[in-house]
Amino acid sequence: MAPSFADKLLAWFDNHGRKDLPWQKDKTPYRVWVSEIMLQQTQVTTVIPYFERFVERFPTIDTLANASQDEVLHHWTGLGYYARARNLHAATQQVMADYNGEIPLEPETLESLPGIGRSTAAAIVSICSGKRATILDGNVKRVLARIFTIDGWPGNTRTLKALWEKAEILTPTKRAADYTQAIMDLGAMVCRRSSPVCDKCPFCTECQAKLSDAIHLYPGKKPKKALPVRATTMLVIEADGNILLEKRPPQGLWGGLWSFPETTDKTPEEFIQDLSLELTTQEPLESFRHTFTHFHLDISPVRATVKGTMDGISDRERFYWFNPTNPRELGLTNPVTRVLNTLQSSGTIK
Ligand code: SF4
Repeated sequence: MAPSFADKLLAWFDNHGRKDLPWQKDKTPYRVWVSEIMLQQTQVTTVIPYFERFVERFPTIDTLANASQDEVLHHWTGLGYYARARNLHAATQQVMADYNGEIPLEPETLESLPGIGRSTAAAIVSICSGKRATILDGNVKRVLARIFTIDGWPGNTRTLKALWEKAEILTPTKRAADYTQAIMDLGAMVCRRSSPVCDKCPFCTECQAKLSDAIHLYPGKKPKKALPVRATTMLVIEADGNILLEKRPPQGLWGGLWSFPETTDKTPEEFIQDLSLELTTQEPLESFRHTFTHFHLDISPVRATVKGTMDGISDRERFYWFNPTNPRELGLTNPVTRVLNTLQSSGTIK
């Protein structure tokens, strides 16, 4: 009998798959869960140092559940897609409250927790319990779309349904944990988005996209739409070497992170006056663009030195004087790290 898809993949995995990733050592449901959330939208090589620092600071589910959101976001700063961190934090609190700290290894139950979708739930269950559960992350979508020439953009409902059906059929009952890791590895290491290494692929002689010289057409591309552009002024307000930061609302863009105050309807002078601070100097800094999934944000930072203290600022939960030379552990937005790095490397601030 010809070897099945799973047999071929597992034979490849036994020889070439990754078995030394940090979350594969001391494997616990908590560590696997953290890794799977970090790996959503982020590559393994980027995730590894973040994962190691994160689990060193929050080694168990209760340490994460009991941490403040500021600490959690601080350890996520730079990894992006911060809703992942907020949801993970909230989900650990839910597991502590509802499941006595035991992560429920059932796909439907896991899927009811914040931030865990169908594929992530299946990955955690299969890797941690060895039970059969089908995954379909970005890597797997690419592999299946190419091998079976499944047309269309995977964000399209019909294409997604076809990919899930194929993934379900192929997932074996035996060696479920290895299969999950194997298909993710094949996508990440061999069937890469650009320049797939087909001569190292166990499906080289049967991959429909390869045989028809059409790899570049699979998976189908997202229909192009020009991203809208928004603009904002960010105030880099400085007093005695401290920088005023404002906490973003808990949900939405950069939710819960600390950023520079923004003003759209007031001049910098008016904004600063409202905080009972006295403007001494101001200068525009170099503008830059930050691109989100749905729009570009053109940011014009203005550096303002002021006289005054926290005394005039009534909302202490919302504003914070951040000392870059002795930084508190906070989650910072990308513009804050970027502007502070520039000012520090030019010697403008310490
Ligand atoms: S043959 Fe090439 S395109 Fe097809 S699955 Fe393998 S690596 Fe991907």
